[in-house]
Formats: sequence, C-alpha cells, structure tokens
Amino acid sequence: MFSEKKIMKQNLPIERETMFNPQSKVLYHLDRVVDFFNDKNVDPINVEIDPSNACNHSCPFCISGHIHLSKYKGTEFFNRQMMSKEILMNFAKDISKTQTKSISWTGGGEPTMNPNLKDAVNYIKENSKIEMGMFTNGSMLSRFDLFETLVKSLTWIRISLDSGIAENYDKLRVTNQSNNFKVVLNNIKKTN
Ligand code: SF4
Repeated sequence: MFSEKKIMKQNLPIERETMFNPQSKVLYHLDRVVDFFNDKNVDPINVEIDPSNACNHSCPFCISGHIHLSKYKGTEFFNRQMMSKEILMNFAKDISKTQTKSISWTGGGEPTMNPNLKDAVNYIKENSKIEMGMFTNGSMLSRFDLFETLVKSLTWIRISLDSGIAENYDKLRVTNQSNNFKVVLNNIKKTN
C-alpha cells in the first residue's frame, strides 16, 4: 500500500519548491499520485484541449501554421477541423462531473476560432471548481465577444506576442487588417 509518506521517502531527485519543473509539479498533487499507485481510478490533474485546428495566423514555427491555408486544400496536410458544438458541450458536461483540477484551452490551431468555446467555458465555470487557462493569439476576442467570459472565467490567459514591432509581427504571422498587431494590442487593452 502506497502512502504520501512512503513516496516522499524515495529520495526523489526533485525539488518541491521548483513548481515549474514538470517532475516537481506532480508533488503538489500527492493525493492523486497515491491513489494512482494504489490502483484507484484517478481523475486528471490537468486536461489540455484543442477546440480548433484552424487558425487565422500562419506562424512559420507552428505545426498548425499552414495546414489551414486554402492553397493546401485537397492535400493530406489540409485540416481546418473544429470540435462540433455537441462534442464540445458534452465534454464540458462530462468533465464538470469529475475531480479534474484544471483545463488548458490551447491548439491545435487557435482556440477562439471555435464559435462554441464561450458556452463551454461558461458552463464549466458555472458547474465545477475546475480552474481554466488559455493560450491564444488574442486577435479574435471580438468575433464571439469573449472579453467578459475570458476575464471572469479564466485563471490565466497567455496572449502570444512575438515582437514589439508591428511590421515584424505582421510579417512573421502573415496577418491582415482584421487580425494584425494593432488589433491584438487593442484586445489586450480591452481585457484590463
Ligand atoms: S497563432 Fe498559434 S496556432 Fe496560429 S499559426 Fe501561430 S502559433 Fe500556430
């Protein structure tokens, strides 16, 4: 039978204080580790979910930077899939009944491109104690009016801004007037 004491006596080569070390992080959830080693059914500590494979930017360093472009239509690379409303809301309902501690909304592509994201985030916030965070390029927060939802329902949001110079940012990400540096900066201001 495993116990927290027994696990901590293993002289694990990890520092409890280094919370950004992935190996240490699990020590903040020792109850789950103990249950896991005792063959119990353990709910996840964190669930990472991609609601969209599509993106409105084309970053050259990203796996999703090109798979959504029209010029690749008809090739095996092309993928502009989006999680359907039914699947996304079923996920929201199911996970809200679990002891999952946190959800990271991410990509894939750009999570805010999914029109049903707002309903899913709000449902989980209202029906569970799960904490949520989101990785986004921040350019589409107006389209589905996400400002209030993201500020009220998320614990953290990370908006990717690779350059402080508009010209460089727009060139790198292949933007247009609806999703460029200026738009992202305005959106960041609106979240304050
Ligand atoms: S904005 Fe994000 S998902 Fe979109 S192409 Fe750039 S890195 Fe990839």
